[in-house]
Amino acid sequence: MTHKSGNRKGSGEKVADLGIPRNTIEILQKYQFRFQKKYGQNFLIDASVLERIIAAAGITEEDCVLEIGPGIGAMTQCLAESAGQVVAVEIDGALIPILQETLAEYQNVTVIHGDILKLDLQKLAEEYGGGRPMKVVANLPYYITTPIIMGLFESGVPLQSITIMVQKEVAERMQTGPGTKDYGALSLAVQYYAKPEIVANVPPNCFIPRPSVGSAVIRLTRYQEPPVNVKDPGRMFALIRASFNQRRKTLVNGLSNAPALHISREQAAAALEKMGLPAAVRGETLTLEQFAELSDLL
Ligand code: SAM
Repeated sequence: MTHKSGNRKGSGEKVADLGIPRNTIEILQKYQFRFQKKYGQNFLIDASVLERIIAAAGITEEDCVLEIGPGIGAMTQCLAESAGQVVAVEIDGALIPILQETLAEYQNVTVIHGDILKLDLQKLAEEYGGGRPMKVVANLPYYITTPIIMGLFESGVPLQSITIMVQKEVAERMQTGPGTKDYGALSLAVQYYAKPEIVANVPPNCFIPRPSVGSAVIRLTRYQEPPVNVKDPGRMFALIRASFNQRRKTLVNGLSNAPALHISREQAAAALEKMGLPAAVRGETLTLEQFAELSDLL
């Protein structure tokens, strides 16, 4: 991997590239690091994958990047070479001294020891990015992929894009459209906020330890304006969740069986008729536009 020196302090020797298995193993042994399954720790040890993620995110010196879960800092080093500012949030206290060593020579990196789901992201964006839209880049802990993504979108934090490694199946769910088995509430929620594009498939042997599932890198480019107009997006998402909660039932049954929605069978059937949809239609065939229309009608 090639490195620029602009964001590094002084002229000292650069810490060895971590996108090489030997260097990663060396540093893990030096600190007697123990992987914590509960934190979804699978560290990337493939330099070409790191480079592809950085390229897909289109990082420039103008960017303030939020990295979720830097691990030992392999991707953080690459980000620091290209970005203006990098803020990396890591939950595991055992990794903090390692990050202090591996990132010591970068003056544009801040490591925060904390839980990404509990941080005030608006405040963080203000403090480090001066309120301008940030780019999120991460090899995500898979156990909390959905809450992290939805938390980022729903927090209202200014965002340009989210480029993340996730479980392959989850990446497919985010990108797919109506009528497929993977289509669901996550597809619709992501597609309301952003344009999803899978940019790479990554096999288990690119990580240490190896995950039991395949992985993929997906880029979610935030829309300036949502692609559909809906009076109450919160209500639309409640309808969507109810429709997919009972995937095998008709939409009329799904909606009228969800007590919190207060929709009768007759109201649901009348709205579908107005939209020109058959009474026995299932939620999994509706597009985002159709859910928006249905939400406004109900
Ligand atoms: N970025 C590193 C890499 O690519 O090698 C590590 C990726 S590993 C899949 C996920 C990282 O997220 C781990 O370092 C883990 O400790 C951290 N993590 C897990 N849950 C977290 C949370 N709630 N907040 C912040 N970091 C978290």
